[in-house]
Amino acid sequence: MTGTKIRILDPDTVNQIAAGEVVERPASVVKELLENAIDAGAMSILVEVSSDLAGVTKIRVTDDGEGMTPEEAVLAFQPHATSKIRDIADLSFIRTLGFRGEALASIAAVAEVTLVTRPRDSGALAGTRVVVRGGEVVEKNEVGAPEGTTVIVEHLFYNTPARRKFLKSRNTELAHIYGVAESLALAHGEVAFRVVHNGRERMATQRSGGLLNTIAGLYGADLARALIPIEARTPLLRISGYISRPSENRGNPSGISISINGRSITARQITAAVREGYGTLLPKGRYPVAFLDLSLEAGLVDVNVHPTKREVRLSREQEILSVVAAAVEEALRRHELAHEAPAEPVQQQIVPAVLEPEKPEGGSMVAQPEVSYAAGHREFTLSDRQLRRTEGSRGAENLLPAMEPVGQVAATYIVAEGTDGTLYLIDQHAAHERILYDQVVEQRDAKPRSQELIVPAILSFPPRESAALRDLIPVLAEEGFMVEEFGRDTFAVRAVPVALGTLEDLEVIRETVADLLTDASRTNPDQREAVTCIVACRGAVKAGVLLTHEQQKRLLAQLARTKTPWTCPHGRPTVVAFDKRKLDRMFWRA
Ligand code: ADP
Ligand code: MG
Repeated sequence: MTGTKIRILDPDTVNQIAAGEVVERPASVVKELLENAIDAGAMSILVEVSSDLAGVTKIRVTDDGEGMTPEEAVLAFQPHATSKIRDIADLSFIRTLGFRGEALASIAAVAEVTLVTRPRDSGALAGTRVVVRGGEVVEKNEVGAPEGTTVIVEHLFYNTPARRKFLKSRNTELAHIYGVAESLALAHGEVAFRVVHNGRERMATQRSGGLLNTIAGLYGADLARALIPIEARTPLLRISGYISRPSENRGNPSGISISINGRSITARQITAAVREGYGTLLPKGRYPVAFLDLSLEAGLVDVNVHPTKREVRLSREQEILSVVAAAVEEALRRHELAHEAPAEPVQQQIVPAVLEPEKPEGGSMVAQPEVSYAAGHREFTLSDRQLRRTEGSRGAENLLPAMEPVGQVAATYIVAEGTDGTLYLIDQHAAHERILYDQVVEQRDAKPRSQELIVPAILSFPPRESAALRDLIPVLAEEGFMVEEFGRDTFAVRAVPVALGTLEDLEVIRETVADLLTDASRTNPDQREAVTCIVACRGAVKAGVLLTHEQQKRLLAQLARTKTPWTCPHGRPTVVAFDKRKLDRMFWRA
């Protein structure tokens, strides 16, 4: 056995590992194979599921992970064969998802399994194909194969009719499979996941697209927008993720996803702690949506309590739970702070379409940045164009408290004063993104508001991106982009959505198309939504750009007329508020 990464665990160790059924249904197979692919360091994983009316007929999982040598490919099917631990002591430091060395053996005992693998970076020219049926290796040969591993599982439960009888309808089993893939995708942003059923893509996440992107990809941008970030760190643990605003709640706790050290788990106690953090913000019997990852020392997490590893036991559980509850409470409190209700009815502000920069007003608390002519002029006219584009949008009411800008900090945050003395900080980019987003959404159903460029923008891309762009052309057309193939891997952009402006902003157009390729090409289920977000982001006034007092005023007035002025389309806050009482307390005046 020397020379292989895989060893057979000794009987003593085996006896100390939680035993039990691993393969209960097709989704169990997908879970185990996905975990193996993640453990193998895959960057992208493809799950292909085939089904007929009776149920799932075939599962194929392909990864670009470390692969296996010919010896390992056979050894992997032995019971208790694992490369992940040597003995029970290793479990205290476990960083991998697998450790029991049972999955492949258990799957191969109740199905026909074909494994094709080639080790990564080993110089091995050929790969190995192993076919195992009823636990016996029935074929082993050399084949051409890409680096990484593909496992194909067919005829699941062919020899266990009782088990087969317990399977639910095809759609239920498929739903379980998607659920498994979603949980792992949420916990593993470092991997791109794609799930295809009978040739149709059902789910796709981007590698390192960020948790919020993963969430938006899986559950839609509306949900992602209703989330607030949570981040907490104590010597004991680190919590990160997103929780829903109280208004976004459910009748059961299934919207709460928890992972611990990258392992997605069910943990009633943690779910309860999250709920507790909401206190009376939620009615009785209602639960929030949450995506939380807890990182803690591996020694505090006992993963060896359940055969399918869905549950863990925590040392210092009470402490951990109270940190979770407190972190949730704190995140909500911070969020509420920015959402304090206006103290008095808000006056509609009339925004004159003034194009000249106004002189800074005297008596400001914060000095107005000087707009130096040469450098400032381009910035000024660009910002001005960007703001003018969003001038027309007409929301029904003014949803922000009346406030007057007093200046800008770091050319990024507008400082404003409310009539009641509240201090507001406004993220100028996030705010304008919100304005643009609302405008694009509002106008999208009327007609694609397109604007022809005087001179088409010619953009070239590497072949892979070109292929992606070619596929996107119809979606882009719906959103007002007129893109044509112009030559090999070269495209002409002839028209862009009004929100993006005209010819002058070629750089903006180039950036937008580049974003569209990296973002929408992962086939976000709602591609239109993805395009809208990108247009809003790219068309918006940037951080780090000086704005005149007049521009600041226009931005705030436009923001006030959006439907949800307090957050940007990605759910980040646009405005934070410090009311007078809070300021007084900060200065010990209270
Ligand atoms: P475990 O994951 O608990 O170790 P498994 O039966 O799932 O047990 O897998 C056995 C061994 O086969 C793993 O420890 C690993 O070394 C190897 N293996 C399984 N799947 C893969 C894969 N996709 N890529 C590389 N190695 C794999
Ligand atoms: Mg495994």
